[in-house]
Amino acid sequence: MKNNKTQPEILLPERACELCGFDSGDALELHVGEDVLVILKNQMTAMELIHVISMISEMSTDLTVALAKACGRCNNCDDEDDGTGQNDPAKWVERCSLCGDLLDGSQNIQIPGYLLEEAGISSGAKLEASADRDIGKITVTEAENQYDISDVPPGILNVLAQSGICLAELDELIMAEDIIYGK
Ligand SMILES: [Zn+2]
Ligand SMILES: [Zn+2]
Repeated sequence: MKNNKTQPEILLPERACELCGFDSGDALELHVGEDVLVILKNQMTAMELIHVISMISEMSTDLTVALAKACGRCNNCDDEDDGTGQNDPAKWVERCSLCGDLLDGSQNIQIPGYLLEEAGISSGAKLEASADRDIGKITVTEAENQYDISDVPPGILNVLAQSGICLAELDELIMAEDIIYGK
């Protein structure tokens, strides 16, 4: 790996470099995203590029399966089931009112900006609500969790929904921040 003075040296395991075919003459580039770092050669032939694409799409499939397994299938979230569409996973989430609401965002709490301002809550904050039946009162507060299902990109959400994965469980897993991969 090329080392120039403006960049820190990164040591890669020798065996890994042998396997992937990096040699000391290759200049590498880092692709950095939230929670991910990918190292690629900064110049590639068509076939080298195809190897990269193939590896990344295989990983993407494996990781999606891992996420789906952690969530499990939606069994209509234990609600009454009319038995229709049993063999069509895409229908499972559609028929489940809880998961369906999570998919189309209709469960999101909407509060007018002036009320948020009066409460000292910023306009982009996540909100949660609790209800008290006895006095007919709904209390809305700023949510404690950093992420929830509204932070999942629509592409990923739709793949899971089409496969009948329980979105209510996904929402729970995101908010709980438990380790669900590599435990
Ligand atoms: Zn469910
Ligand atoms: Zn459901």
